Amino acid sequence: MNSFTGNDAPHDAQAPALSMEHVTVRYGNVTALEDVSFILRRGDQAAVVGPNGAGKSTLFNAVAGIVKPTQGRVKIYGSGPDRHICIGYVPQRNRIDWRFPASVFDAVMMGRIGQIGLFRWPNRKDREKVRGALAQVDMLDLADRPIGDLSGGQQQRVFLARALAQEAELLLLDEPFTGLDEPSRQAILTILQRLCAAGATLLVATHDLQQAGELFPLVMLINRTLIAYGPPDQVLTSETLGRAYGSRLHIVPAEQGELVLTDTCCSGGRVPVE
Ligand code: ADP
Repeated sequence: MNSFTGNDAPHDAQAPALSMEHVTVRYGNVTALEDVSFILRRGDQAAVVGPNGAGKSTLFNAVAGIVKPTQGRVKIYGSGPDRHICIGYVPQRNRIDWRFPASVFDAVMMGRIGQIGLFRWPNRKDREKVRGALAQVDMLDLADRPIGDLSGGQQQRVFLARALAQEAELLLLDEPFTGLDEPSRQAILTILQRLCAAGATLLVATHDLQQAGELFPLVMLINRTLIAYGPPDQVLTSETLGRAYGSRLHIVPAEQGELVLTDTCCSGGRVPVE
């Protein structure tokens, strides 16, 4: 999937795409993550699930180099996250300032900056990549619109297009479905399915447990600490979910397995009966 060679930090051919080693992140006296260790291999696709405040965004920010661990280490292809332009990060929509005066096309072109470098103008190939990414998210018709004029679902698609135009090797999507209308949800779901089929390396935060289990080969369940990580049938059990969600979890018997309901909306899901 990738083409970062010149500008990116060096990649160790033997190293996994991402590793966290005993990572703790504190904000003042709040411990958002504690002693989290895991490996995401090249081509792995993992959903990150956990209740509100579990540390999902903090984990993403630590991978993207936006937040520095208080303890422990994050490695991207074997080295620290700071100089890696191969990371495509789509933050939660409500954490982006949409008043920024840019057209859809320009916002997606910003994803090419790592490839372009500071000393040349975008060329035909860059413009083609941007158009191709916009076509993938079904937004080519709106290329000239100011991003501030778009609906929430369209804005989410623009940011996904930006990561696609970037040709990121490691894609981080923080709650890409939250607050979207159904057509945008479907569009993003289709793109995710396509990326999974193409063998992209993906980390996607979601609070939809059912979707996490159905769409992703790996699920990471966190609540400040890493509670479980592995295939969905091993991670999404009533025991581990109980540890993560505590009293916010309601498990009711259902026809096939059990229906799990959490306090955050749209997060119902089925887990196997043990
Ligand atoms: P999630 O994405 O799972 O909802 P977050 O990573 O946003 O969780 O938050 C984890 C914890 O860290 C929460 O208690 C939250 O209030 C706290 N937190 C997150 N960001 C900050 C910050 N910049 N300053 C202080 N506390 C923060």
